[in-house]
Amino acid sequence: MRNIAFLFAFIFLLGYNSIAKDNSSIQFYPIEHASFVIQSGDITIFVDPVGAVEKYTNFPTPQLILLTHAHGDHLNKELIESVKKENTQIIGPAIVTQQLGYGKTMANGEKATVSNINIESVAMYNASPERLNFHPKGVGNGYVIELNGERIYIAGDTEDIPEMRKLKNIDHAFVCMNLPYTMTPEQAASAVLEFKPKHVYPYHYRQQDGFSNIDKFKELVSTEPTIKVELLKWY
Ligand code: ZN
Ligand code: ZN
Repeated sequence: MRNIAFLFAFIFLLGYNSIAKDNSSIQFYPIEHASFVIQSGDITIFVDPVGAVEKYTNFPTPQLILLTHAHGDHLNKELIESVKKENTQIIGPAIVTQQLGYGKTMANGEKATVSNINIESVAMYNASPERLNFHPKGVGNGYVIELNGERIYIAGDTEDIPEMRKLKNIDHAFVCMNLPYTMTPEQAASAVLEFKPKHVYPYHYRQQDGFSNIDKFKELVSTEPTIKVELLKWY
């Protein structure tokens, strides 16, 4: 009888732990299109902040501003200057830090640590022949950051490249999908089904004729029950 009670207590604790683990300590706030804010405890990170400064003033001063590349929907020098403070670290590829005149340069594949945040830059580029000019290989950075033991992938503007497909242990993945600049929802879903993040957030999906077919993306990815598609209000 006592053993059975212990067994029930053990099963209860197992269940409790798995619930606690699923309750991520990280919050994501979409700003618009490619711009968002990551918060965990007292850590605040701005990713590719563009748009009106009022969209950022309600957040604490960021420890880190992470920039993927220099296109106007990802980089706005005036905005960065109005939101950064002395202790804000700015990280981007060479094309970004050259345009800003400051910041830490990271090339594809490099690693850095800022405020206990582990950062690894990942390649982002077009691979379809008719799209090569939009994002040539080696110019921009995607990122994998590790925050409180959770791994977040920020794709930047890219197609379903091998560097994305071989990612491992991603808890939260932000994946772009728009034509002609990045990729189709079908390409994005195919890559996501290969690297299997726990949560995937479609972003950067506005295109010339409206929006990419996010429902199609969700339908394709939902064939894999371990991946949760998270739809945030980006527009
Ligand atoms: Zn771009
Ligand atoms: Zn873009």
